[in-house]
Amino acid sequence: MPQQVSPYAILEGQYELHETIGSGGFAKVKVATHILSGEKVAVKIMDKRQLGDDLPRIYLEIEAMKQLSHQHVCKLYQVLETETKIFMVLEYCPGGELFDYIVERDRLEEDEARLFFRQIASAVAYIHSMGYAHRDLKPENLLLDDDQQLKLIDFGLCANPAGGMDQRLATCCGSPAYAAPELVSGHQYLGSEADIWSMGVLLYALLCGFLPFDDENLGALYRKIQAGVYEKPEWLSAGSRDFLHTMLQVDPKRRITITQLLNHPWIVLGQPHGVDATSKYKTCGVDEDVITEIAVHQGKSRVAVRQAVCRWSYDYLTATYFLLVTQKMKGKPIRLIQKVTPLGEIPSQRTPARCLMEQLNKEKPVDVPCGMPNSLGNSPRGLHTSLEGGLDDIDLLSICKVTPIDQLVDKVVGKTTNPELELTPLVSPKKRRPPSVGDDDKENFAQPRVPTPGHKSRKKATPSTP
Ligand code: ADP
Repeated sequence: MPQQVSPYAILEGQYELHETIGSGGFAKVKVATHILSGEKVAVKIMDKRQLGDDLPRIYLEIEAMKQLSHQHVCKLYQVLETETKIFMVLEYCPGGELFDYIVERDRLEEDEARLFFRQIASAVAYIHSMGYAHRDLKPENLLLDDDQQLKLIDFGLCANPAGGMDQRLATCCGSPAYAAPELVSGHQYLGSEADIWSMGVLLYALLCGFLPFDDENLGALYRKIQAGVYEKPEWLSAGSRDFLHTMLQVDPKRRITITQLLNHPWIVLGQPHGVDATSKYKTCGVDEDVITEIAVHQGKSRVAVRQAVCRWSYDYLTATYFLLVTQKMKGKPIRLIQKVTPLGEIPSQRTPARCLMEQLNKEKPVDVPCGMPNSLGNSPRGLHTSLEGGLDDIDLLSICKVTPIDQLVDKVVGKTTNPELELTPLVSPKKRRPPSVGDDDKENFAQPRVPTPGHKSRKKATPSTP
């Protein structure tokens, strides 16, 4: 009988897989050790057959993450693919979801909320500047690393309109409770404006511990969002109320822009300056110390290593390069581990050093500038580490068709009458999404997880008008 090959065999020699740390609508996430550097990573594992029509969304997420390199965006290190699986090797965020952080504390004090919100604003301004709208901003998609730094994840619903950020979109996606009024009304919308609304809902959740717009009935929830009326608990300061009011504007044209938001008095309070959205990672060139370490370890010339790294293939070499850069940024010595085979033990066919060597020995790369990879795997848009980098001008978003609200209500996850959607075998109903492919008129709402009003006993709250 033929021996069954493990679905994880492709990782052999490169990573040691450990326990499962999370699961979402599409994926199981495990912590792992990158053998050559000893660094911990998160491996997001997806089964292509289960993904079905959602497979293009995973490729979209991968391409987006290749382009994005920012201290508050979870970094993609490597992509591995087999006939049945896709593995995304990611920066490991051991601190868990911001959602759980809020729930454990009921709600956050304004100063702590400000520190988190500054990081969120920095990440969102950066991704907008790179031509992306996230479209699923919520506390479940913000993870904490071991330094209390937030990292934005889950770019499976992002938009990167070909016509730039001024192009209008029509896909209804994300979580209903965080969706902007124009989106739930089925109007075309700008992704940047919709993201700002979601940031308002997010800040409200941080400060209050529950959602501003909530209802078990989806139609009723949409009507509340469209009315833009929400409670203002008495513990909210006047400054917080004002700031929330600028983001939770029903008319998107009256909503604060991301550029204004970065320097709003609420965000600056107690801080030396507004939010700097610049990437702290190096946006051009490679880190020569890291190149040298790899070259010495592999017995190759620095020129050869530099050329191979600059292919940005998102293979073991790319992962090794990024992880060593991260070690350097954290002030740790840059060091690759040479695993010694104990006496009497036969060395494994696939050692990490061999995996790296295979990639270094690939044919000569095309002549590309050494900088941030693009969707083809190579181009100069800045992934590497140093204190250089810059924020590009903020463009805006994209085009699509209109979906009437009634259709949305019928087809949203959990409320759908489509048996196929109800049978989608996904892990948690809370994070479940209906199958959807591109930026057409399908909707991709997920269920909210933030505690609902009444979930906790609260002091008296006063309603506001839009
Ligand atoms: P899906 O795309 O299927 O929704 P996610 O990307 O949201 O999957 O990941 C599912 C869960 O796995 C997250 O909510 C989080 O708890 C955990 N997780 C994801 N990425 C990481 C990471 N880089 N580090 C630590 N945990 C992670």
